[in-house]
Amino acid sequence: MHLLPYANEPYDTYTTPASLEAMATALRSVRAQFGQTYPMVIGGKKVMSEALLVSTNPSAPSEVVGKSARATREHAEAALDAAWTAFESWKRWKQEDRSRVMLKAAAIMRRRKQELEAWLVYEIGKNYVEASAEVAEMIDFIEYYARQAMRHVGGLGHLNAYAGEENESFYIPLGAGLTISPWNFPMALMTGMTVGAIVVGNTVVCKPAEDTVVSLAKVFDIFEEAGLPPGVVNYLPGVGAEVGSYLVEHPRTRFINFTGSLATGKRINEAAAKVVDGQRWFKRVFLELGGKDAILVDETADLDAAALGVIQGAYGYQGQKCSACSRLIVVDSVYDALLERVVERTKKLSLAPADQNPDLGPVCNAAQDAKVREYLEIGHSEGKLLVGGQRLDGEGFFIQPTVFGDVAPGARLAQEEVFGPVVAAIRVKNFTEGMAVVNNTVYGLTGALFSRDRSRIEIARRDFHVGNLYFNRKCTGALAGVQPFGGFNLTGTDTKTGGPDYLLQFMQMKSVAERL
Ligand code: NAD
Repeated sequence: MHLLPYANEPYDTYTTPASLEAMATALRSVRAQFGQTYPMVIGGKKVMSEALLVSTNPSAPSEVVGKSARATREHAEAALDAAWTAFESWKRWKQEDRSRVMLKAAAIMRRRKQELEAWLVYEIGKNYVEASAEVAEMIDFIEYYARQAMRHVGGLGHLNAYAGEENESFYIPLGAGLTISPWNFPMALMTGMTVGAIVVGNTVVCKPAEDTVVSLAKVFDIFEEAGLPPGVVNYLPGVGAEVGSYLVEHPRTRFINFTGSLATGKRINEAAAKVVDGQRWFKRVFLELGGKDAILVDETADLDAAALGVIQGAYGYQGQKCSACSRLIVVDSVYDALLERVVERTKKLSLAPADQNPDLGPVCNAAQDAKVREYLEIGHSEGKLLVGGQRLDGEGFFIQPTVFGDVAPGARLAQEEVFGPVVAAIRVKNFTEGMAVVNNTVYGLTGALFSRDRSRIEIARRDFHVGNLYFNRKCTGALAGVQPFGGFNLTGTDTKTGGPDYLLQFMQMKSVAERL
């Protein structure tokens, strides 16, 4: 198989009239498809249910983007059956052939980029660039894992030989597992988690977040079009606490690949640890959970660059990223000067329906709306409001980009994941105190330091305890194949998506010795 070397898929910055016009056309075409109903897909068959999930537009929640089947436990059982049936043949496919199907899916996605982006704009309120970056990331995961999988084929040549025996060790897949995704990167994360598992021969049941059932119906259509055999992926839209937890506890679930909140992750970890009747293995559980990510700025930093990094890291997709900057930790001598710049930039950001391509669109759903508003209240009691702080009147879930100043490091706003456009600014005496505050959290996903001091950069390289650390740039936007992504502490099991070892987690090694 002759492939071009892996390279990150470019995303569109939507700065040219031609690209904006193309997006306007895609948005019109997607809007014309609003209100359709999408089935689940079990063993290649499209299945409807009586009850439906309804997916709405967070910019205008009375608009129904689409509806989907809502799986019951019986459907979950059937999906797991279908996955195990498909496993028997899929695991025997040549690696090249499995990778080829994935690459075909990526090629179709590339051709349908703008349409896929438009679904993200309407279903979860991304602006054009954020939507484009997500579709590019989805393509990256596929392209990267399709190539990586081929490196794991065959025996492990670097093991020692032993006289009188012929020895061989090689990888085999695990079986049928479960992928559960959150709503904030529905396409990239569900696709990455799923392709990572299936490309090396596993099969999966895919449970998307309830708010993203249309976007993912489009993605799984593409896998079918690419020629993925029935049952390798089974698309199971449903409610997490119903079918998700049922499959987590199921004795025939071999592994669980989960991205979502700490609360759900804890529940899944506990439930999956229990070996129930009929179960023949310890489930492998992969967890990528929340963050309380910090940007630390010291007195040697370029303050304009730092202010820009904060704005990009804190407000990209309305702060609804696990990697978003939600703590801004600043050395006292430059605190006022930096906050002035951050506030000035924040005031200039536009907040509007996502299809108008603003800087910030709505937060994703009513629960998010309520949660972020609660933290705005908490912020008033724990800090000084410097900018924003309001939820706009009207039905769309629009919340102003907000900064609270002089928040104490132990305050709720500085410890709990808000997952919205709210920054807690914390004043520290010096860099050393700043580093202590940085690591004072149960999470450990991303972080950034703005500094021109080489020795401090090296201290942070060692001691800033996060899975993804950045210097003198924003703390979001990890690239697959460049910055393997995953967090420490209660952020999860540090799976490092988009990294060279990711696929090994979905395989087990078999060692075979034959006496000569
Ligand atoms: P969530 O935990 O509420 O839901 C995630 C998924 O879990 C959904 O599909 C949901 O239906 C399902 N679910 C809910 N209860 C379940 C249960 N009992 N058993 C099985 N499945 C269940 O999270 P969310 O609100 O959709 O997503 C936001 C969270 O995801 C944030 O905390 C964010 O930081 C995190 N996240 C982490 C990463 C990462 O890579 N670390 C990436 C994106 C998002």
